Amino acid sequence: MKQEIERVSRGESTAALWPVGDEMPGGFSAAFATRAMSAPGLPPLVDFARTGGDAAKQARDRLCEALGLPPGSLSFAKQIHSADVAVAGPGQNEASGFLPDADALISNAEGAALAVFTADCVPILMADPESGAMAAVHAGWRGMTSGVIENALAAMKREFGTNPQGVSARLGPCVGLCCYEVGGELLERLSDSDRKHLRPRETGGPRLDLDACCRTRLEAAGVNPKNVFSAGVCTKCRPNLFASYRGRAGGLNISIILKRPHHGGAQCLK
Ligand SMILES: [Zn+2]
Repeated sequence: MKQEIERVSRGESTAALWPVGDEMPGGFSAAFATRAMSAPGLPPLVDFARTGGDAAKQARDRLCEALGLPPGSLSFAKQIHSADVAVAGPGQNEASGFLPDADALISNAEGAALAVFTADCVPILMADPESGAMAAVHAGWRGMTSGVIENALAAMKREFGTNPQGVSARLGPCVGLCCYEVGGELLERLSDSDRKHLRPRETGGPRLDLDACCRTRLEAAGVNPKNVFSAGVCTKCRPNLFASYRGRAGGLNISIILKRPHHGGAQCLK
């Protein structure tokens, strides 16, 4: 798997994306933005936080420009570490339209761009070319153990007729096994399949491979592992690229899945 940063430019904005797996099928694009954006008025390392004020909004708008999206076109919800799923239309977010609190958004609308914010939790972007549905999921340990991944797939099936077997999934940058020491309530809430991804240590608490837990859950829910790819990078270990709750780089990362309007030819991100 290639691991170089991928640069995407339009106008005066350049986004630096972390590549995850193959290109998404069916006219979908998955973008995992790093903090290393470049545009007039932006600091060298940006924060995309939903609640980060004007600077974060400007970073999001510049990211949209680099991706070829109109400013303000992202759909995102207030995330509350739940297992709740909401159906989102294009541009529905706190600023432009009502969207309930949720940790997974799903849509089948052309022109929609679903965003999810993370800092160590796993951003999961999914698409099904057959039903035309997509999802952006915020999977931290709380949401994951509450079933947010399974709920998102069930909602895609219910709302859009998605068969999990056709779903392609991309798991973005998150805290790695290297840095994720766990204990307390988290340990109690892990499922049997999650527990297989615990790594005990001689001193200190065990470590957990959160990405692997999510992959196992996707597979158990019917997603073909051949269509699942992970970023393979730890947010805490790379503060010059990613925000990390546990590390010294504050703020939030953003991951976006979008479905291009059909112009009689798929528009590529590159
Ligand atoms: Zn690490």
